[in-house]
Amino acid sequence: MTDNGVTWLDEELARLQEAGLYNTIRTLESPMDAWVVINGQRKLNFCANNYLGLANHPRLCEAAKAAIDRYGIGPGAVRSIAGTTALHIELEEKLAAFKKAEACITFQSGFMANLATIPALVGKDDLIISDELNHASIIDACRLSRAQVIRYRHNDVTDLRAKIAENPTNGHRLIVTDGVFSMDGDIAPLDEIVAVAEATGCLTMVDDAHGEGVLGEGGRGIVDHFHLHGRVDVEVGTMSKAFGAVGGMVAGRRTLVEWLRQRGRPFLFSSAMTAPDVAACIEATAMLQESSERVERLWSNAALLKAELQRMGFDTGLSQTPIVPVMLGEARLAQEFSRRLFAVGVFAMAIGFPTVPAGKARIRVMNSAAHSRDDLEVGLAAFEKIGRELGVIGD
Ligand SMILES: *Cc1c(COP(=O)(O)O)cnc(C)c1O
Repeated sequence: MTDNGVTWLDEELARLQEAGLYNTIRTLESPMDAWVVINGQRKLNFCANNYLGLANHPRLCEAAKAAIDRYGIGPGAVRSIAGTTALHIELEEKLAAFKKAEACITFQSGFMANLATIPALVGKDDLIISDELNHASIIDACRLSRAQVIRYRHNDVTDLRAKIAENPTNGHRLIVTDGVFSMDGDIAPLDEIVAVAEATGCLTMVDDAHGEGVLGEGGRGIVDHFHLHGRVDVEVGTMSKAFGAVGGMVAGRRTLVEWLRQRGRPFLFSSAMTAPDVAACIEATAMLQESSERVERLWSNAALLKAELQRMGFDTGLSQTPIVPVMLGEARLAQEFSRRLFAVGVFAMAIGFPTVPAGKARIRVMNSAAHSRDDLEVGLAAFEKIGRELGVIGD
């Protein structure tokens, strides 16, 4: 091979392969659902964040088709220049009502919602106090803001309080945390964090990507879960997970939302969600308003998975949510486990460094409300078989 200037990347890729950290992305030949087709074969899908099984729901598909007939596809330009459709406004109003917030603004994704919000709120004379395990999009948004970033120990409110006390500033201060931590499934102690923020005059921001449609009454999210309506300054969410489509949102006071419409850079400089996306999200919001049945099924599925995996002898970590990590330790073991599961028809991803700390590799089991009891039994039988083969659990 000739040295084309990126040879070092080939070496880096080879290193990833060797360490069991190279991620092979599967190609799906079917919709995202409880079962998917890969290489012509049906596989039980334990990978998606499609919590409520809405990604391929007929109601969302129909809503998207009807929106195309009425509004076409593309937004044409950014909303602040070419105008915004009535559909986008409808979604924002319905989300605000669902979440019992004053107002809501949508973005192209949850990642974009973070990139828009943090730099719009704090700048180089300000301070961000951030949970050490926060999502990459929060970390990047903090960097973009040029504010000073102090990390506090994961979910440790005592350390949060200490870090605030040790870092006096005349600037604005923002405490930011994930709501549900996606790799462990634990929940931020948002009630205690809000109490600290209120006592110290800091702003609070929670990224509820994995709590949206999952936590709280009928999936209204983490603010509802802790009954903190009106007390969390910024509630970021995504419609790419439980809502089954794509898009990000920020809910909060009307003033905050107005500010983000004026100063959120991904809002001002990147085009909006497409009409079918927006219509699908409106339909998902309506379905959540109508019934909490899917949310309940998701939780009961997860409870069954956790109980059975633990009975078999697996370590399922500290999850408090439907995320079920099966802790395996070494990345190579997790990869081999995942590979063998796949061979027997179960698609469940191994997660290793840098997504989780080195030595804490795992399989992350994600069920959805679309999985039946039989589906779960199929999955559990595969875990038991491979767990024995690899000596992770006893006979
Ligand atoms: C998934 C996730 C995001 C990104 O959401 P997208 O809509 O997929 O861009 C942001 N924050 C957290 C905590 C997430 O888990």
